[in-house]
Amino acid sequence: MTERVAGVRLAPYTTLGLGGPARAFVTATSAEEIVELVGAADRAGEPVLVLGGGSNLVVADEGFDGLVVRVASRGIEFAGDRVTVQAGEDWDGLVARMVAEGRSGIECLSGIPGLVGSTPIQNVGAYGQEVSQTITGVRVYDRKTGAVSDLPTRECGFAYRHSAFKEEAGRHVVLAVTYGLAKDGMSGPVAYQELAARLGVALGERVPPAEARAAVLELRRGKGMVLDPDDPDSRSAGSFFTNPLLTAGEAAELELRTPGFPRWDMPDGSVKVPAAWLIENAGFPKGYRRGPARISTKHTLAMTNPEMSATTADLLDLAREVRDGVREKFGVTLVNEPVMVGTHL
Ligand SMILES: Cc1cc2nc3c(=O)[nH]c(=O)nc-3n(C[C@H](O)[C@H](O)[C@H](O)COP(=O)(O)OP(=O)(O)OC[C@H]3O[C@@H](n4cnc5c(N)ncnc54)[C@H](O)[C@@H]3O)c2cc1C
Repeated sequence: MTERVAGVRLAPYTTLGLGGPARAFVTATSAEEIVELVGAADRAGEPVLVLGGGSNLVVADEGFDGLVVRVASRGIEFAGDRVTVQAGEDWDGLVARMVAEGRSGIECLSGIPGLVGSTPIQNVGAYGQEVSQTITGVRVYDRKTGAVSDLPTRECGFAYRHSAFKEEAGRHVVLAVTYGLAKDGMSGPVAYQELAARLGVALGERVPPAEARAAVLELRRGKGMVLDPDDPDSRSAGSFFTNPLLTAGEAAELELRTPGFPRWDMPDGSVKVPAAWLIENAGFPKGYRRGPARISTKHTLAMTNPEMSATTADLLDLAREVRDGVREKFGVTLVNEPVMVGTHL
């Protein structure tokens, strides 16, 4: 049975190893328990934090003054190509299993930490794939109406590292996600240059999913982007900043300031700029340190707690220095990707 425990430190439940105590902490092992616990807390007016794998969270040193509901519901069901997975299943465990079965569509999302229920929140993506390409439905508990419903993909508002769930943060609790994963023994078309080069294929070609997974894991390890107790660079929340999307006008201004800056022109006329390039060219190289917090020595976008000796305040001081430096040099304001709990950038 679910038991509330007071004063649990949240740091061990986050990949950054940061965060003070929760007023109360409880683990939910089924969708029904999640609904029951979150619903009861809402009715009592108690703030709720839904906790997955803690890999996209920056929790304040002061902790969280409310109830943390840790999602631990398990179960995977199959119906043809459709795979319905409970929110508490480990994401990379699911990817490994689907790859082993020769199912295609999520192999390039190998090595991403966290749980299945979190993947729709920020439309998890990497190496040319995003979960929005394979999600066919999301079962949610709507805390505003108290209803459980199955949302089709078109109602999820998926965009780059974004979804309708982020727009109304905290309103929907994801109970299960259904993915369409065809069992055709080949990966999706390879859509990322660095991965294509590693696999020795042209963009758009397909390879056995296990090959794609192995290549992605190798590339990710080289960047400290696979959780590894022996790799201090992996003590992070992944990429700390998203790649900024500029309007055509903002891009023209940046072009005046910095002719020839690297850019991806988007179909809607906006321009995406690599945040890593902005950070490095604003004077923050890999390994840049501010006290006990450090930019990963392998990946400019990851802010890390390498010796597990930093506080959240230390990490945010570093992130603010980087954000402010980029703004001063380029006039572009970087936005954090991880969710802030009880604090802000
Ligand atoms: C080393 C490393 C590499 C990473 N690489 C990538 C990458 O390549 N691509 C990428 O997109 N991300 C990446 N991330 C970020 C992170 O892994 C993903 O965002 C992941 O989906 C977060 O899952 P989680 O279960 O840990 O969520 P948590 O950190 O526990 O929670 C994140 C947010 O989702 C909410 N949430 C959690 N579960 C639910 C639920 N069931 N219902 C509603 N809300 C919920 C939480 O309240 C919080 O707001 C990386 C992180 C690390 C540490």
